Amino acid sequence: MEKGLISVDRWAEGSQAYFLTNLHTDHTQGLSSTWAMAPIFCSRVTAKLFPFKFPNFNLTLLRVLDLGSWHSLSLISPSTGSKVTVQVMAIDAYHCPGAVMFLFRGEFGCMLNTGDFRWEKNCERAKLAKEMLLNALKDDAVDVLYLDNTYCNPTFQFPPREVAVKQVADIISSYPDHDIVIGIDTLGKEDLLLHISNALNVKIWVWPERLQTMHLLGFHDIFTTDTSLTRVRAIPRYSFSINTLEGLNRMHPTIGIIPSGLPWVVKPFEGNGKLFDSLLTSGYNRSKVSSKGGKQNDKRNGDGLVEMPSATYINIAVLLKIGKSI
Ligand SMILES: [Zn+2]
Repeated sequence: MEKGLISVDRWAEGSQAYFLTNLHTDHTQGLSSTWAMAPIFCSRVTAKLFPFKFPNFNLTLLRVLDLGSWHSLSLISPSTGSKVTVQVMAIDAYHCPGAVMFLFRGEFGCMLNTGDFRWEKNCERAKLAKEMLLNALKDDAVDVLYLDNTYCNPTFQFPPREVAVKQVADIISSYPDHDIVIGIDTLGKEDLLLHISNALNVKIWVWPERLQTMHLLGFHDIFTTDTSLTRVRAIPRYSFSINTLEGLNRMHPTIGIIPSGLPWVVKPFEGNGKLFDSLLTSGYNRSKVSSKGGKQNDKRNGDGLVEMPSATYINIAVLLKIGKSI
């Protein structure tokens, strides 16, 4: 496709239409509340959540794309000045709420930009998205593919989301007297929190902005900002650290969970390499291997990764990472 027509998750000048696959921060770098360059196309759920991420944003610039429908755009070729028609369809990406892939069609052929997406063989939602894509393509093939290849490595074999959320709920229920803190982002991991709430019959504490997001997503009775109502708290991932856990454990035995596929960054303290032997998951063991393979350069490294000093913490904090599956 010619340059100067569209941009996906890229917010530099020079395009006529902009597309947002999901509201995670790594896709919105450069986008701000004062954006005025051109319309932004996104899913209905993303549009709904947009004002929380970007207060005072001029919402008339948002264009909602309903899943599975072709939408036609008339653009102008920067090189010839002639009219260019681009068709676009949004398809569920099965990532965080509102996340979509974009399929573009035009004189340039078919182009698929996956954004962050998740594929699970036996997942109904993923199967529906695949069908939607195949129906949209009919006899065409994808000519240009922009693929999010994070975790596209045999080292990463995450369990299905359903299995992973159950693992976390089991861990929590096996520590009935511990407080639990779960590090989450401003969006995503809702399935995990809902499962924990259902399985353990508990409410989940979230911070006030996250509560608003949960209400917008239609979850009204499960989440609370009252700490006295529950021992399970979902806290912002950026505020989650060993220091936080240490502080919490001085007051009450607390388990920390970071639901993420990001590999561990392990820095054994005083040469002691034994870490949390009793509760290591296969996910941990895999990522320990991968951390030697230079995975520390992962684009999202540093955002929430916790360095594990030593087994010193085993009695005061159990910190687990359980795949992107969540
Ligand atoms: Zn994402």
